[in-house]
Amino acid sequence: MSIPIHKYDAVIVGAGLAGLSAARELKSAGKSVIILTKLHPLRSHSGAAQGGINAAFAKDDSVELHEFDTVKGSDYLADQDAVEFMCKTAPELVRWMEKMGAVFSRNEDGTIAQRPFGGQSHPRACYAKDRTGLTLLQTMFEQTNRLGVDFLDEWYVSDIIYDKGVVKGVVAYDIKTSESAIFNAKAVMFATGGYGRAFKINSNAHANTGDALSIVARHGLPLEDMEFVQFHPTGLAGTGILMSEAARGEGGKLLNSKGERFMEKYAPSKMELGPRDLVSRSITQEVLEGRGVGPDKDAVYLDMTHLGEEKIMERLPELRDLAITFLGLDMVKEPVMIAATAHYSMGGIPVNIAGRVKMDATKYVKGFYAAGECSCVSVHGANRLGANSVLEAPLFGRHVGQTMAKDIDTLELMEIDESAADKMLLEIKTLLDSNGKERVPALRAELQASMTENAGVFRTKESLTKQKIFIKELKERYKNIRVADKSKIYNTDLQEAIEFGHMLDFSAFIVEGALSRNESRGAHFRNDFDTRDDENFLKHTFAYMGENGDIKIEYTDVALGKFEPEARTY
Ligand SMILES: Cc1cc2nc3c(=O)[nH]c(=O)nc-3n(C[C@H](O)[C@H](O)[C@H](O)COP(=O)(O)OP(=O)(O)OC[C@H]3O[C@@H](n4cnc5c(N)ncnc54)[C@H](O)[C@@H]3O)c2cc1C
Repeated sequence: MSIPIHKYDAVIVGAGLAGLSAARELKSAGKSVIILTKLHPLRSHSGAAQGGINAAFAKDDSVELHEFDTVKGSDYLADQDAVEFMCKTAPELVRWMEKMGAVFSRNEDGTIAQRPFGGQSHPRACYAKDRTGLTLLQTMFEQTNRLGVDFLDEWYVSDIIYDKGVVKGVVAYDIKTSESAIFNAKAVMFATGGYGRAFKINSNAHANTGDALSIVARHGLPLEDMEFVQFHPTGLAGTGILMSEAARGEGGKLLNSKGERFMEKYAPSKMELGPRDLVSRSITQEVLEGRGVGPDKDAVYLDMTHLGEEKIMERLPELRDLAITFLGLDMVKEPVMIAATAHYSMGGIPVNIAGRVKMDATKYVKGFYAAGECSCVSVHGANRLGANSVLEAPLFGRHVGQTMAKDIDTLELMEIDESAADKMLLEIKTLLDSNGKERVPALRAELQASMTENAGVFRTKESLTKQKIFIKELKERYKNIRVADKSKIYNTDLQEAIEFGHMLDFSAFIVEGALSRNESRGAHFRNDFDTRDDENFLKHTFAYMGENGDIKIEYTDVALGKFEPEARTY
């Protein structure tokens, strides 16, 4: 069977805000570009973003204040040169999106409305009701279609074609038919989004399985700061489905079983609008100390009743719908039950501001780029502020697209042949032939429950060591799975087995990074090292996976700047 080899200037994996924005730039610059995506573009997780996108353009706000909030929010781990680039470009980016057709909610005087978000010193999240991500995603999708960008939807990218520091393309198969193809390109970009599905309670789409992270790691390339997983304070109890921070931005209160507004204790000045790491820990602490609500006493109340129906319907209609559908609770009439939910991944594929993927702390991979949530540039450091990610994805996506368009003029198309697909074909064949006793959904549930328990909001050396051993066991059991569906049409059983292999690999990075970081910083909280240790850990983690699956940790410097690390109080 011969495998087609398609040739392009650029291949982009992922059709969320980062991938679409890059594709638009490449196509406008006259380059041939294709987007491969395992979902329909409009099903990308960017479309689920509710709350907003930050830009400091209000009269009494400033870019410098946005930078400061972001760096402080990051617990000083963000690279300040990247933060400066992002915050400086944000106002222009939002207006660029608006000019391309994104309809933002407005103030009475016609200016773009902005709402307060956690950890920000000024209301600066621009929004389109509580459907901001979908509005922006649709806009970018229209723009890429208008320009004639090629798309292949429901194609699963399973590997990069990588040789000694050079990426030459990707291999992928069509989920609809299981047919394979090779995409040979001068430049490859990963824009594959987040990986919150490693946790039991999470706000992420089912597709957020972090495939790209382990694809990169399996070639011996580093992953950065993987221990920093953001837990969002307000996921619907039981499912983790997101109640956007906009709920607290618009005035939502958090109450425990005694009816106390407990944030008074933890963040007296910012209250519910403290940063996410702090509010998530406070909620979890209330539950652990027995002041939880709900049948299992594992949630707290988010009370919006004082806002009134009109405001809720104008600003938060989607949230109301979600709470009615999944909990049967109407926020107009009663408080809804929420708990912390795994939400966002600060770590990822290390890149510089131009989006070039790092081979180690000093060298770059030729022809390989990344942007959006799968990358680590690092603008969020140890904790991301709300509305900074819907900003990061198109902002860096667009910028990286421009870098690629320039680089393509000097990059050559590297010769490859059909053997580039051998590894993928063998993986697929092995899985289809598998006839063991274990089933992927059961193993996945065990991974997710154990990650939430041992590597969640609170961590200790003991819990993380337990999790490290457990992941090794799961990897052994994974060798004994059975993929029951042996067919070629929409074989989701096969796809889930491949995805689970990726989840096991990158989860091991989260755990190893957390185990080595003997301090508490941002979203990473160790009960046994409960303070920040700048002397030893004001550093990025660079982690590498060896042949035997063991992970080696190195540390690299943070790009500091005008904001000196100081104690973080709210
Ligand atoms: C519920 C929710 C609400 C949020 N709200 C906000 C908010 O209000 N403000 C904010 O700033 N941030 C928010 N975030 C975060 C933000 O939405 C994301 O970080 C951002 O949209 C990610 O964009 P992206 O382009 O990097 O990835 P995504 O939009 O996730 O797109 C990833 C793409 O990669 C493709 N892909 C992945 N793996 C493969 C593969 N193996 N083969 C082929 N294709 C693949 C997928 O098909 C998809 O097209 C929210 C996140 C969630 C989960």
